[in-house]
Amino acid sequence: MKPEDRAFDRRHIWHPYTSMSDPLPCYAVIAADGVELHLDNDQHLIDGMSSWWAAIHGYNHPILNDAVCQQLKKMSHVMFGGITHLPAITLCRKLIDITAKSLQTVFLADSGSVAVEVALKMALQYWQAKGEKRQRILALRHSYHGDTFAAMSVCDPQNSMHHLYRGYLKENLFATAPALSRFKEGRVQENWDEQDISDFTTMMACHADEIAAVIVEPIVQGAGGMRFYHPDYLKRVRELCDQYQILLIADEIATGFGRSGKLFACEHAAIEPDILCLGKALTGGYMTLAATLTTRQIAETISLGEARCFMHGPTFMANPLACSVANANLDLLAQNHWQQQVKAIETQLWQALSPLKEQQTVADVRVLGAIGVVEMKERVNIAEVQREFVAQGVWIRPFGKLIYLMPPYIIQPPQLRQLTDAIVTILKRVEGKAYSAYRVE
Ligand SMILES: *Cc1c(COP(=O)(O)O)cnc(C)c1O
Repeated sequence: MKPEDRAFDRRHIWHPYTSMSDPLPCYAVIAADGVELHLDNDQHLIDGMSSWWAAIHGYNHPILNDAVCQQLKKMSHVMFGGITHLPAITLCRKLIDITAKSLQTVFLADSGSVAVEVALKMALQYWQAKGEKRQRILALRHSYHGDTFAAMSVCDPQNSMHHLYRGYLKENLFATAPALSRFKEGRVQENWDEQDISDFTTMMACHADEIAAVIVEPIVQGAGGMRFYHPDYLKRVRELCDQYQILLIADEIATGFGRSGKLFACEHAAIEPDILCLGKALTGGYMTLAATLTTRQIAETISLGEARCFMHGPTFMANPLACSVANANLDLLAQNHWQQQVKAIETQLWQALSPLKEQQTVADVRVLGAIGVVEMKERVNIAEVQREFVAQGVWIRPFGKLIYLMPPYIIQPPQLRQLTDAIVTILKRVEGKAYSAYRVE
């Protein structure tokens, strides 16, 4: 890449969560293949991030490429109002098939955040149609549900800086986040402590008649801290929602499609949500597409309301290219025996990372499914740590106190070894005198 292209990027292009005046450094990727990202200096990096939970089968996959190319020759897009097409029908059939039995209708949205907006609007229109004024959502602290306004209003108030938008942002309710739980080989290690849900229970009791829905990330709280919690917490949430007849929205945008060791994380607790959000890995990281599923009962109740329909319809709804690659992605998931892939990653992550817990600078190490997390005691210097990782030939992007891995499912043991070795090496340096270089002042 030419220096002027880099300069243009720094001067004119926003990147996620970084300053426009003094942006964090960016690495130029010119291609990606399998589990490798190719930089413009000919360096190849092993990918430990799956491009944020999405690229589960790796990059430039011949079958996924082919799905896009075949569809491209037919049509890349047509409006979804008054028109339907087989890529969408096939996909929605599959989604209904693999998710909870009660979920029988699908709304195809354009991104995870929009899928959450859709879920919240469904809950509001549902209660409106029933003639009840319920407009508040109960969420959990440390949650992350997206960056648009309604989605942000149910994210952790501190992490997403609700005070910046005070007066504009809906003030929702937040219950204390569940305690961290340890998992080994996919099974929770601690006994359930009913105390853990007491704040949530109190919130439900105090606000039962104004809450429209509860929204949670099942079992894994992702961008809000990479926290794994007890399946009984989720079970109790379901019971309390039933008790007060409040809708339960499961945001499985990050956890969906096998990442936590179950196809959907709700399965750890054997519960069914009333509304389910999917995204990220839905297209294997090829294109933006998300889905919000709900029951026939909720869908039909919405149709009884004043509007007679659900009030949402994105321009690129059910984009055929995205649906086609999602279909190929789901077929591949089944063919590749994702359970074995994820289990092998889990075992290896556990073996390689758990000894790090003994280190002075490490607060916690946790592994669930194909997710491995090293939580440091202090925030790490992203630019510095990232530079070290790249020098070691891996793509790992920490945030806050967290250094974590969620590699593509197709990763091979030696490649995964390179990722975990890189973390071990970094931590050794951090442990030594160079610590200050890795810490944010
Ligand atoms: C990433 C994420 C979202 C938002 O998805 P986008 O596609 O980035 O809008 C919502 N919920 C969870 C749990 C996520 O991890």
